[in-house]
Amino acid sequence: MSTELAIRLRGVVKRYGAITAVDGLDLDVPLGTCVGLLGPNGAGKSTTMRLLTAQSIADEGELEVLGFRLPDESKAARAECGVVPQLDNLDTTLTVEQNLLVFTHLYRIPRAERREAIERALRMANLVDRRDTRADKLSGGMRRRLLIARALVHRPRLVLMDEPTVGLDPQVRQELWALIDSLRSEGTTILMSTHYIEEAQRLADTVLIMSHGKAVAAGPPSDLVLQHAGREALEVYGPPSRLAEVEAEAGAAGLRTRRTGTSVSILGAEAGNGYAVEGERRPANLEDVFVLLTGEEIA
Ligand code: ATP
Repeated sequence: MSTELAIRLRGVVKRYGAITAVDGLDLDVPLGTCVGLLGPNGAGKSTTMRLLTAQSIADEGELEVLGFRLPDESKAARAECGVVPQLDNLDTTLTVEQNLLVFTHLYRIPRAERREAIERALRMANLVDRRDTRADKLSGGMRRRLLIARALVHRPRLVLMDEPTVGLDPQVRQELWALIDSLRSEGTTILMSTHYIEEAQRLADTVLIMSHGKAVAAGPPSDLVLQHAGREALEVYGPPSRLAEVEAEAGAAGLRTRRTGTSVSILGAEAGNGYAVEGERRPANLEDVFVLLTGEEIA
């Protein structure tokens, strides 16, 4: 049993018929950190989250959550976890406060502590003024905040969030980032799946990039950027034929490139390798790494 790791996966495999959704995954989430699980559609992020909540059972490998082995000790693990599902499953016939109350019962919070637990969750999610609003009358962002509040009501040591801001507008997303960040600064351990690169770059201490069920890279975002994409990217614009030429020339000079729709980004451009071309310099970023390693453009 590991004491310093909130989550430890080794060689985890999950198959659905001919599809191997998770294919020999190793994942470490140290206590007190925020880890982002990043990957394109179908990479296996949601499957990994379902394995961690024992909604799915792995075919192979070792899974430990807060020192409990899954699936045998999943009940004990779940009692100390908060889960924010991708799909909103709030009870829409209940008010904000009633939704939270149901969860204080589910998590067996002693009667004398329920009131304070609810008030704390309402404050964290900034829903104090909305306590009497029925869930179906909330905006999308408020509903998502309530989902998070509901997952926090029993002060879990570990929070699992599956795509916490998917489908929300940028303003609401930023509101949620502030909420997640405040949780993190309180020392709550967070594992968050996302396909928003910026979300991972802003919130995660370390990210694990998944592709086809496998981990293709793991580490702090800035380390991954430096390791795979260097310090600077040179953005070169032009018609498709010109872009293809630049790709070939840069490739011949030993430089890595990626397409960004209307441009080619030459990565590690600070090295140059004797190849000079007109373009716009910018810092390399996690999206460059993501595209290099998974071959996917971010929507
Ligand atoms: P997204 O970002 O689109 O949610 P993801 O990274 O979460 O993608 P998963 O939902 O874990 O990916 O899916 C990984 C693969 O496993 C996909 O090919 C998917 O079709 C398949 N898969 C997932 N769940 C099931 C299931 N219950 N039955 C059959 N195939 C499944």
